[in-house]
Amino acid sequence: METTAEKPSQEFAFQAEIKQLLHLLAHSLYQSREIALRELISNASDALDKMRYLALTDETQRDDAPLEIVIEGRKDAHELAIRDNGVGMTRDELVTNLGTIAHSGSLEFLKAAARGKDGPTALSLIGQFGVGFYSAFMIADRVRVRSRSHTEATGWEWESDGGGSFRVMPAEGLARGTEVVLHLKDDAHDFAEDWKIQNIVGRYSGFVPHPIKLASTGERINRQKPIWVEPRSQVSDEEYTKFYQHLTHHAEESPLWHIHLAADSPIQFRALVYCPPTSTERLGFGRDEHGLSLCAKRILVQHDCRELLPEWLRFLRGIVDSEDLPLNVSRETLQDNSVIRKIRTSLVKHVLDKLDQQAADAPTEYLSFYRQFGTTMKEAIARDPMHRDRVAKLLRFTSSHADDPEKPTSLTEYVARMAEGQKSIYYLGGPDLTAVRKSPSLEVFRRRGLEVLYLSDPVDEFVMSALHVFDTKPLVSIDSADVELPEETKDDAEKAKAAETPATAGLDRVLSLFREALGSRVTEVRESKRLTESPCCLLNAEGGLSTQMQRMLKMANQNFVTGGRLLEINPSSPLIRRLATLSANPEHDMFIRQCGLQLWSNALILEGAVLEPEELVARGQSFMEEAAEKRSPIVT
Ligand code: ADP
Ligand code: MG
Repeated sequence: METTAEKPSQEFAFQAEIKQLLHLLAHSLYQSREIALRELISNASDALDKMRYLALTDETQRDDAPLEIVIEGRKDAHELAIRDNGVGMTRDELVTNLGTIAHSGSLEFLKAAARGKDGPTALSLIGQFGVGFYSAFMIADRVRVRSRSHTEATGWEWESDGGGSFRVMPAEGLARGTEVVLHLKDDAHDFAEDWKIQNIVGRYSGFVPHPIKLASTGERINRQKPIWVEPRSQVSDEEYTKFYQHLTHHAEESPLWHIHLAADSPIQFRALVYCPPTSTERLGFGRDEHGLSLCAKRILVQHDCRELLPEWLRFLRGIVDSEDLPLNVSRETLQDNSVIRKIRTSLVKHVLDKLDQQAADAPTEYLSFYRQFGTTMKEAIARDPMHRDRVAKLLRFTSSHADDPEKPTSLTEYVARMAEGQKSIYYLGGPDLTAVRKSPSLEVFRRRGLEVLYLSDPVDEFVMSALHVFDTKPLVSIDSADVELPEETKDDAEKAKAAETPATAGLDRVLSLFREALGSRVTEVRESKRLTESPCCLLNAEGGLSTQMQRMLKMANQNFVTGGRLLEINPSSPLIRRLATLSANPEHDMFIRQCGLQLWSNALILEGAVLEPEELVARGQSFMEEAAEKRSPIVT
């Protein structure tokens, strides 16, 4: 074993990123400097959490000293000291923890600063990042950390002026734990004043679960009782918001809503669960890796415990505390711990109850929630059979009923409006709402007043095929060849007939010319019963995947083989009627074949796909030439 004597004072260079971070922090905004104290207190609190946990699980680590944080302002020396009797750090830990950038909050901050050339944006948002220990250099021109680890008999001192390097040397006579001493910058001397310390603790660290005391008076300056243990009536809205800010380190953010639970059976637990205002996943920050904090008898067992909620609720933040949980639950045993499972079931039920209630009583607020987190929630449909039906009721779609994205419909409302004889729920997906609305497949549904759901969120297609049925009604994509429509009443059918004069003679000839021209591009060309305006539309083979679904699979995998397509022709459209007439003369065969190919290309373009672009352009060119030929230059 190495002894202190063998390792005298040694100088280390900071990692490059740390230098960058320190430089940024030195130029951060004046008023954000208060977060430095918040970060140091948060580290002290983490060290106390670890110590408390150790003491409970390992007898040899127990002693009688109460775990606490003491803050001492030394006005004359212009120093601020933050002390804790937590786990402390060994020499190696000092070098690694306070010399490299292991911490994600600091990294996020650096990335954000690098993204915006307008550095001030990141700097003004600094309060929202857990920048960590290095934020001490926002208010200090020299920092000393004196620490003795619970695993060692002697201590160490770390010291730096925030330049390129730091020193580590042995320190005698230290108690277990850590003391961080800041030598305050000239313009930060007020940080040594008790009123200032009290003010910052009240604002940022009020919910730290250990006593924070002022050295001068011995007085405790943070909250005594954890907020989640108190009855709902004792907690104000402001306190709920502040606790959220404490949990998430988001100094300015307010949650969309919260649920405060106290359950006694079958499992005793308390929970405070928050929904953040925005989805970080939607903002492109990658998958949300947070979870709820798990406490056993008020002692923090694990930050970001993922087992307490299903994946599709991973955006929720908060804390769960149970009397029924042994303190020595480890990460490995959490997964098959029956207490955790029961808490999780209960939490999901309460979250779904809350959302049901919001959807019914405050639809506008529900919609803002849904826009942020709907996509994440939808994962439940495919992955969580237990909750599939409840989540399905929470889905919202724009539909042909109101056709207003601000007034989306639920599947339940759709079913209530279903026409007599209608057996299925109809939907159509597309790259966006505008494209979906223009699809020719919709025409017969419009004419007959049958409601169609418009899917524009890319995952909706997967959701629909995973859900398959809702309330015993099959969910059907209307671009499939085998869509069944309810029987038409005689009245409707006659009205429809009167409005149209379909081509009869010559239609078969047109169909067979189209078939010849299209060859293997389609599996069939047939007369349509669904079109009223457009001359044609493309459908998917019976039982096949919807067009949008195929597009997405193709994007994900170049080798995906798309299914067969059918071309349906509308005999009532003026173009088809004219072609049927022309087909009597074999001279026009070539022209009719070209029209068949062009209609196929047009239908694909409406779906956002362009196949055989050279032929398509050449055909368009020759149609124009032919039309130009027939025009006369003489003004009439
Ligand atoms: P974070 O707290 O998010 O890990 P910090 O930069 O705040 O990041 O701290 C870096 C690390 O330094 C901590 O993870 C911890 O291991 C160590 N550390 C900092 N302060 C203390 C302390 N008071 N007691 C023990 N360890 C500490
Ligand atoms: Mg920290």
